[in-house]
Amino acid sequence: MTAAADRLERLAAVEEQVVSCRVCPRLVAHREYASAHRKPAFAGERYWSRPVPGFGDPDAGVYVLGLATAAHGGNRTGRAFTGNVTADWLVAALHRAGLADRPTSAYRGDGLRLTGAWMASAVRCAPPADRPTAAERQACARFLDAELAALTWVRVIVCLGALAWEAAAGWAGLRPRPPFGHGREQPIGAERTLLGCYHPSPQNTRTGRLTAAMLDGILHRAVRLAADQR
Ligand code: SF4
Repeated sequence: MTAAADRLERLAAVEEQVVSCRVCPRLVAHREYASAHRKPAFAGERYWSRPVPGFGDPDAGVYVLGLATAAHGGNRTGRAFTGNVTADWLVAALHRAGLADRPTSAYRGDGLRLTGAWMASAVRCAPPADRPTAAERQACARFLDAELAALTWVRVIVCLGALAWEAAAGWAGLRPRPPFGHGREQPIGAERTLLGCYHPSPQNTRTGRLTAAMLDGILHRAVRLAADQR
């Protein structure tokens, strides 16, 4: 079997494990609650309502990590960073950086293709108030670990927010945990780097805490680092 075929097989196995997971009872209940209490704009839709696997290019050098699936975003559409304002911001920036073939991420099956990038959340189910517990984050760490083990070309993990940074630092075994900062770089061994970025949530983008130029700067840096370390 070629390395590429092995990567695809391993990623498919991770995806199968993710979508069938019911380890966290509170999150299983919440993802189903969100589905039963749709936003009016999505009233006619059938929600995915399961854990959401990562999505992107199996040969990715840049791994973009968020904190958790959004109740009416990924939990509705079944694809990471798809179907909400945060996804629009992130994927538009990925497009400007040459990592996505279009500036929108609307629904599973919309044809979006990433080249050189992978997107995922540290917690694959939607938590109440977007706040997973420490135990839930710990439980879901297995999938970050498995995905990164399969994605052998990943060189940079762009961590969207402090909790994604913490998840990635935990995966890397960094102790004490290095502090999060926008633009902060933390090498992991000789080949991989954590790169901090404010989360592109409306709370940050509408207040100007994160601008499009700031996000572009992070992604361009990630592309450069990934190329240098390949
Ligand atoms: S958050 Fe992760 S570990 Fe918990 S039920 Fe969802 S997929 Fe499973």
